[in-house]
Amino acid sequence: MPPCGADRPPVRQAKRTQSTAPAAMRACWRAGWACPCSGPVEPKPDRFIEAVKEMIRNVTGRAPDTCPWRAFGEPVVADIINAHRWYDTGQVNLFLGNDPPAHLVAGLEMYVGALNATRADRMDRESEERRKATPRR
Ligand SMILES: [Zn+2]
Repeated sequence: MPPCGADRPPVRQAKRTQSTAPAAMRACWRAGWACPCSGPVEPKPDRFIEAVKEMIRNVTGRAPDTCPWRAFGEPVVADIINAHRWYDTGQVNLFLGNDPPAHLVAGLEMYVGALNATRADRMDRESEERRKATPRR
């Protein structure tokens, strides 16, 4: 079950996204993310979730338009994440050939861009934390 509390796990659901959150909280997350994981839902904006979306938008340039866990169940997303492993090791051509599907190339570019932006943001924040923790002389 994804953290949002879907009744049916999406395809290729990762085990580590299992949630122990109370049902009321999961219902709140589903409404806040407009999560369709458990079927149609009446969207209800939530301040915390809107702040998370804004943070994602600031870092990656785009906020998720639905439940983030739902995306991992989309076969094309799974294909892109798998392709990224080959990209990381310089073996994309070996697995996808010299003329890979355009949607996979575009998705890979978007994923790599978002991943790099996220890593850079984390490094900036960690660097700032170290700077604050270091006593000044
Ligand atoms: Zn969901």
